[in-house]
Amino acid sequence: MPETIQKKIVIVGGGIVGLCAAYYLRQDGHQVTILEKEEKTGQACSAGNAGMIVPSHFIPLAAPGVIAKGIKWMFSPESPFSIKPSLDSELISWLWKFYRSANDGHVRSSAGILKDLNLMSRSLFAEFAQSDDIDFSFGEKGLLMLYNTAKAQQEETETAKMAEKIGIQADMLDAKQVQELEPGIKVNVRGGVHYVKDAHIDPVEFCDALEDFLKSKGVEIVNGAEVKTFGQVNGQIKHLTTQNGERHEADEFVLAAGAFSTTLLQGLNASIPMIAGKGYSVTVPNLEQRPSVPSIFCEAKVAVTPMGDNLRIGGTMELTGRNLSVRKAKVRGILKSIPDYYPDMPAGNMGKLPVWSGLRPCSPDGLPYIGRFQNHQNMIAATGHAMMGVSLGPVTGKLVADIVSGKEPSLPLAQLSPDRYN
Ligand SMILES: Cc1cc2nc3c(=O)[nH]c(=O)nc-3n(C[C@H](O)[C@H](O)[C@H](O)COP(=O)(O)OP(=O)(O)OC[C@H]3O[C@@H](n4cnc5c(N)ncnc54)[C@H](O)[C@@H]3O)c2cc1C
Repeated sequence: MPETIQKKIVIVGGGIVGLCAAYYLRQDGHQVTILEKEEKTGQACSAGNAGMIVPSHFIPLAAPGVIAKGIKWMFSPESPFSIKPSLDSELISWLWKFYRSANDGHVRSSAGILKDLNLMSRSLFAEFAQSDDIDFSFGEKGLLMLYNTAKAQQEETETAKMAEKIGIQADMLDAKQVQELEPGIKVNVRGGVHYVKDAHIDPVEFCDALEDFLKSKGVEIVNGAEVKTFGQVNGQIKHLTTQNGERHEADEFVLAAGAFSTTLLQGLNASIPMIAGKGYSVTVPNLEQRPSVPSIFCEAKVAVTPMGDNLRIGGTMELTGRNLSVRKAKVRGILKSIPDYYPDMPAGNMGKLPVWSGLRPCSPDGLPYIGRFQNHQNMIAATGHAMMGVSLGPVTGKLVADIVSGKEPSLPLAQLSPDRYN
């Protein structure tokens, strides 16, 4: 095998994607620096999410029926979706592109790559779990899609059939079979689909352990470094500058700044359509009765994940700009749905818990942006993962390292190009 040339790489953003990119780049022998605007890595969207690793999520966000549901939900304050009607051109242009993607053809053409990305990432998580590099708990109990209505049952049955067709095990369970999987808590459902190969982690535990490992391997992590501008000559990025005027030069740059990645491109000859999809979670400590298998409530669009002694409950997708403000009605909506599925869980007390909010980096077609920018060949996009950034963190990192090291990418990148809208 030809030896890869060692390069100096600067990664913008120390979320799960930036950290995973640093891991595989370092493994390939590159000299890596992460610039992170917060005082700690893994604190933005990568912190309070549901931690699910989801080969089951092979259907992109932009799919038929989503727009009709979205419009219905817009008029209900406690619903899982909202949008702030505005004349903001970024939002209008994004919505138009989303609308153009929400069709069967797009679902068919995206299912393969989403499945491959998620399955490969799951294998990489399993490798992490087996290696001595980082210590974290890797839950391998699958994911339960739980439903209470005939309509959701029908939708989930169709998805499960599609899953089986593309090689993802999806076991259809009746109410009794769901209950047998969860002897520790009463489950009140019509049925569910068990995606056996899905998995879960505690994202903070994973990011913290990865950060420690990276530091031990000589990766430089600079906190409190907010990247403001890129300096370029004839399309070649030469350096970037942080808020305090520090310049960082490198051979290649990786853009992994989550929901803020697109704003960083202003002033360059590149753009990626992306908006922030805000979601919330609460983390409930020491529940006497709690599920052991992660679940998604299909009607309420709420995700529930056991994380050690805690249970994390999260949801909503708010297209209301890049802010972290909490809308209490949305959190109420999430918590209200719990007794419909787990009737004995004391959801009433959860309203007093601190609420976390995070901004998902959402592309209009539901596919991430991974690849070199056409007009800035030494800058690589690693963002736009929406509801799957944890799940796709390792595979994204691996692909970034493949690109930088000049290897044949582990998966085809054409559909993920950051220039696909240009
Ligand atoms: C409620 C909820 C539940 C979710 N559940 C799941 C789940 O179960 N499974 C899953 O796979 N995904 C889930 N997600 C999505 C997932 O959390 C995100 O896709 C993922 O965290 C994105 O990772 P990232 O590294 O791209 O972005 P981030 O974690 O946001 O990291 C980007 C980093 O860049 C830094 N940054 C930004 N601008 C700059 C700058 N100018 N200079 C320097 N640094 C900068 C930020 O501070 C941040 O640390 C969920 C999201 C939400 C909101």
